[in-house]
Amino acid sequence: MFFRVNNSHIENGTGTCIWCKKNEKTNIAHIISKKLLKSDHKNNKLTNSVCEKCNSYFGENIEDWIFKYSPISFWVGRDILNDMTLDADRSFIYKKLFVWFKEYKEWFVATNIKGKKFPSQIIKKGDGRFYFYIYKKDKLMRENYLMEIQEIITQLQKKNYTTYLSSLLPHNFHSRIFRFNDTPIVIARNDDQAELFIKKILEVNDVKKILLKNYRMRNNEHRHLIIFYKWSLKKYSKFYLKIIFEYQSLIKGSEFVLGKEFDDLRKSAKLKNNSFVELMFLNGQGFNRKLFPRGYFQIIKETLDKEFKIPIFELELLQKYTFSMILYKNQGYLCASLKLFEIEQFNIVLAKIEAPLESIYLITYSADDNSLNFYEPVNSMVDFDEKLVLNMEEANLYDFN
Ligand SMILES: [Zn+2]
Repeated sequence: MFFRVNNSHIENGTGTCIWCKKNEKTNIAHIISKKLLKSDHKNNKLTNSVCEKCNSYFGENIEDWIFKYSPISFWVGRDILNDMTLDADRSFIYKKLFVWFKEYKEWFVATNIKGKKFPSQIIKKGDGRFYFYIYKKDKLMRENYLMEIQEIITQLQKKNYTTYLSSLLPHNFHSRIFRFNDTPIVIARNDDQAELFIKKILEVNDVKKILLKNYRMRNNEHRHLIIFYKWSLKKYSKFYLKIIFEYQSLIKGSEFVLGKEFDDLRKSAKLKNNSFVELMFLNGQGFNRKLFPRGYFQIIKETLDKEFKIPIFELELLQKYTFSMILYKNQGYLCASLKLFEIEQFNIVLAKIEAPLESIYLITYSADDNSLNFYEPVNSMVDFDEKLVLNMEEANLYDFN
């Protein structure tokens, strides 16, 4: 064992906000969002170091987005809530969700809105015919459904609809239309398929030609679901940066982090950038570990030499933890690495600092026993087993902004 637990850090806030440097009213900042912990921890709070405005900036612009759209909600469901059913994760509402129904050999669109989990959908099957699939236990009210189909077609004629196209949809996915909040959405793998679907359905001269079918979900079929998440490197980087910087403030005191050498970091954390990519998660297959590029992000304006190398601490070795983070100084630069769930480790060069860091700081959280711990090397940094935690391989540098 190369570390000892040192959970004695006490916040040394001055009332000046560590993010905007103003003396505004502070409020309680949870360093790691409460959603990532099984319960509140006193070592996870700053009460006198972050102003209300900055705190809500991170909450509303970064954390809310991440919990609504990103794959983090998958791990939160699995590891924090210990519940993987569709009902448990309310964040699914905001995602595109497709469930494979073995019995019908068909994908169905799901929403996870209470009472509208599986909306009715008109699907153009392989035989070229249209089927109106209705999720229901009781008998079909034929007249009602024919009226609903007519409404959808009228909306299509008036061009009152939206489309969702994605080449990531499975190859056996049939184009379809369903209504979400009264607006029809045409779903297809590409533009051509969507156009063909609309053309063909508008050619149907009698809605009775559209066949009515019931469908029902059986146990465990949601194991085959496909969820579309949004992934934003920018938002994730800022999300991590907030955690790193606030823990740094807890460990080293707010005077330390108020230094001007952290001004670039403060600016980067507040830059608004909403770019994201969409990615598919097929239950059971994961994300194939393609979320973060390997290397270092840097936020300091000064351009580091391409040959510049900083050792990377291999947090991979701490896999039993839900969260792990390490803060260290190397060649005059303050660096941090952070790992959350099964997402690739995030490494960052935070600032060039004069003052010594005095130690290497490791923080871990385990959802298994709900323990949040701070560690330091037993005696000095020499005590680190370099083979265990260091990786001196070349690390690419990426511009943070
Ligand atoms: Zn502030």
